Formats: sequence, structure tokens, C-alpha cells
Amino acid sequence: MSNKEKITAIHIDECYCKGCDICIELCPTDVFDVSEKINSKGYYVPLPVRLDKCNGCRICDLVCPELAVILISEEISEEISEEISEEISENLSEKGRLEINP
Ligand code: SF4
Ligand code: SF4
Repeated sequence: MSNKEKITAIHIDECYCKGCDICIELCPTDVFDVSEKINSKGYYVPLPVRLDKCNGCRICDLVCPELAVILISEEISEEISEEISEEISENLSEKGRLEINP
């Protein structure tokens, strides 16, 4: 599917994730693994450990019942400077979000 976006980063909002694993089960390219980190609600949150396999289908984003999946596309990445991107990542980390880059 040539019109799918190139996803350059996936953030999982740890504060909202309820560990349902739907994103893990429905990802067609097996991008996620369950992490060993438990969030404040006592759930294991997913980690996008195989981001290089992501085909940009956005299923994970669409099916997450907690809106905890944040996909960063190449298009968005190009619009913001590296400095701003790092600042966003730091803010997300402070708020308990996980970040995995390729
Ligand atoms: S966008 Fe699609 S391929 Fe990429 S992680 Fe989400 S479900 Fe998997
Ligand atoms: S679908 Fe959403 S709530 Fe469920 S494990 Fe994935 S990120 Fe967490």
C-alpha cells in the first residue's frame, strides 16, 4: 500500500494504557512486545520494539480504547526541528510516556 505513512516513532501513553494487548494482537507486522515495565495502574504496557516493520496502517492507533498510541509520521517529523522533537520526547518522558525510536 504505497499511500501509507512512514512512521518514525511510536509513543505509548503509559498513564492511560490498560494493558489490554489489543494493539499487540492486531498489529499485522508484529511491531509490539509486552514490556516488563508496569505502569501506575499495574498493567504491562506494550513497546514498539520492531518499529522498522511498521507499515503505517494505523490499526494500533485506531483500536486502542484508551487513545494511548501516538504515531509520529515522517511527514510530521520533517515539519518539526530535531531540537523541538527532543523537547517533546523529554516532556513525554516526564509525563510517563514511553518512547522507542528506530
Ligand atoms: S501502524 Fe500498523 S504496522 Fe505500525 S505499529 Fe501500528 S498496527 Fe503495527
Ligand atoms: S491497545 Fe492501548 S490500552 Fe491496550 S495495550 Fe495497546 S496501548 Fe495499551
